[in-house]
Amino acid sequence: MDIPKLVRLDDPILHRRSKPVDVSVIRQSWFQTELEMLISAMRHYRGVGLAAPQVGINRQIFVCGVNKNPRYPEAEDIPLQVYINPEIKDPSGEETILQEGCLSVPTLRADVPRSLKLTLFALDRDGQAVRVRAEGFLARIFQHECDHLAGHLFLERVRDLSTVTRSRIS
Ligand code: ZN
Repeated sequence: MDIPKLVRLDDPILHRRSKPVDVSVIRQSWFQTELEMLISAMRHYRGVGLAAPQVGINRQIFVCGVNKNPRYPEAEDIPLQVYINPEIKDPSGEETILQEGCLSVPTLRADVPRSLKLTLFALDRDGQAVRVRAEGFLARIFQHECDHLAGHLFLERVRDLSTVTRSRIS
């Protein structure tokens, strides 16, 4: 499978809301192949998550999964997950701050405040509705990837610009 190129920070696709996926296409083979391609790309670029617009696909899809990632050595392992048309509900007012990065902005990292807990509503790769209660690092990934699908980058969430640093791992 060809690994797609990551789109760059200045690509307009990263700055607009992605289109919802029509439920009727989810079980079609071209769409399942697209999901596999997103998973392969996330692994190839060693991300903990990847949203479809990051590889130039204007659709509401993200994948995530963590297995001893050098960018986030403290993070717990998270099994592979695929979400379509995701929506975050009930984000907690309680926040957590962690240094975040992004495959679309490989040279920069910064402290980003995120809600500690939330509920994600989405469709899974079979088109079944799922509801996932998440906390901590997984909740952070969900917020980062849903931001991509809404056309926002983590840099827009940085409150303390003095925390912006050059990344050592790109
Ligand atoms: Zn990102």
